[in-house]
Amino acid sequence: MARGSDERGVLITGGAGDIGRAVARRITESGVGVVVADVDAAAAKRVAGELGPKATAAHLDLTDADSIETVARTLRGTISAVVHCAGLAIVTPFLAGSVDHWDAMIEVNLRGPMLLTKALLPGLLDADSARVVFVSSDGARAGAGGEAVYAATKSGLFGFAKSLAREFAREQVTVNVVCPGPIEGQLVTRTMAHHPGNLAALEKAIPMKRLGRPDEVAALIAWLASPEASYVTGQLISVSGGITMS
Ligand code: NAD
Repeated sequence: MARGSDERGVLITGGAGDIGRAVARRITESGVGVVVADVDAAAAKRVAGELGPKATAAHLDLTDADSIETVARTLRGTISAVVHCAGLAIVTPFLAGSVDHWDAMIEVNLRGPMLLTKALLPGLLDADSARVVFVSSDGARAGAGGEAVYAATKSGLFGFAKSLAREFAREQVTVNVVCPGPIEGQLVTRTMAHHPGNLAALEKAIPMKRLGRPDEVAALIAWLASPEASYVTGQLISVSGGITMS
């Protein structure tokens, strides 16, 4: 069957964030349309405006089931891929963490992506090349102090994605997980704000001795979301300068 010939676009959640923006840029540069979806509607609009006519913006709140349903219904038949890039990282020593923070991370990082995937999949099944890409974290593979609950939500995506990959393989829907290591941008700046000395220690611990760049993660994500990635499914792939090797 010829695949990848339709004109559908890619939905990117967290599209206003550092990695989401880089993914959106790369995909539009390849001539494919994107929907930049984010809880920060103004930022999503700004990013879509910067990217030009191949990009549109959508307000999406992954903690709100109605918002998820509305976005999925509006986009039905117009997208062939979803990149789950939105995420919430509250990094704190485990014993000092609040249960409200746990719940917030579970909602944005796990429950919301599960709900959105359920709402979108029926519409993806008749796409020429249906792709689901989750953005997890290398910290969920390797373990990271202060990230126990964040890592739990992000590794929850591993079992979810692999099981979906098996369930929908016959329909030629691919489901993969990209696991970034520490990447330059606001997330690392935020989490390091109270411990600036830790940045040097972090860089030292990375085999490549530097943070990654959003475009280095975006390259893999954009490929996994493209028609070209037709025989890769159920994979966890780290983009982490060698922290996790497997
Ligand atoms: P970022 O903070 O720049 O962007 C995250 C985006 O998610 C923001 O635009 C934010 O508004 C959006 N978002 C938050 N809550 C939302 C909600 N309820 N509904 C919809 N959107 C919501 O982060 P980033 O660096 O671009 O990270 C992208 C993804 O990669 C995240 O899932 C993050 O956990 C993961 N990750 C990042 C790093 C890193 O070092 N930056 C490392 C490992 C994993």
